[in-house]
Amino acid sequence: MRVWVLGTGSRGNAVLLEHRGSRVLVDAGFHAKALEQRLAAIDVSCESIEALVVTHEHHDHVRGACAAARAWGWALHASCGTVQAYPSLRDADVRTFDAGATLQFSSMELQSVSIPHDAEEPVAIIATDDIGGRVGIVYDLGYANAALRRALGDLDVLVLEANHDEGMLRAGPYPPTVRDRIAGRRGHLSNRAAADVARDVAHPSLAHVVLAHLSDQCNDASLARSAVSRGLAPTRFTGAVHAAPQDAVVGPFEPKVRRGRVEQLRLEL
Ligand SMILES: [Zn+2]
Ligand SMILES: [Zn+2]
Repeated sequence: MRVWVLGTGSRGNAVLLEHRGSRVLVDAGFHAKALEQRLAAIDVSCESIEALVVTHEHHDHVRGACAAARAWGWALHASCGTVQAYPSLRDADVRTFDAGATLQFSSMELQSVSIPHDAEEPVAIIATDDIGGRVGIVYDLGYANAALRRALGDLDVLVLEANHDEGMLRAGPYPPTVRDRIAGRRGHLSNRAAADVARDVAHPSLAHVVLAHLSDQCNDASLARSAVSRGLAPTRFTGAVHAAPQDAVVGPFEPKVRRGRVEQLRLEL
């Protein structure tokens, strides 16, 4: 499976998954025109996308969802709570699921995992392809509970929120109510919390940790990368740590070659 982050942050999020020519988008937090441009930058036509899964109803995740799904015939999936909380989704042709459900697509399945965030029924996504490749997309959460950490086992690629540096948040421009919301149990993961999650789920085959949803005001790519790299230092992780930007497409991020999977591919050929 290959992964591109089409952009990530408080002004929009979208992550593209691809396996054997089948494509699924997670979140469409950009207007349809901007999504089209970002996909064109990696030579992907909008019509080639099979489905869109929305993680929660905040604008930076859902902004272009209805228009894009309608324009390009994407199957649109969202949790029941997300649909209830976002009126335009209620009027769209959306397939609902309960947090915890697994969604089947032509060459991959997406498991949804309930996460704590100030939204109605937000989820993280764990995609597994038909040769065992696994990608986690984990952002917009106040903390990572034990069930989520268990679900993040044996990943090849982890897209993980590293929203803020705690010192920069304290010293930053936000009023105390906003600051408390961001740092709260239903807010966003700090660099320190991201480092803790990364350390917990790291293993030798984890190829990429892609930090996401970095705050413009209260974070910095090099700070986030170094905090998470320090967290990973005592583990057997030998992959790369990246910080994905708001305004550019990054990827593809791909699994390391694993012996069992190569043999399975050979057999199928
Ligand atoms: Zn967000
Ligand atoms: Zn959110």
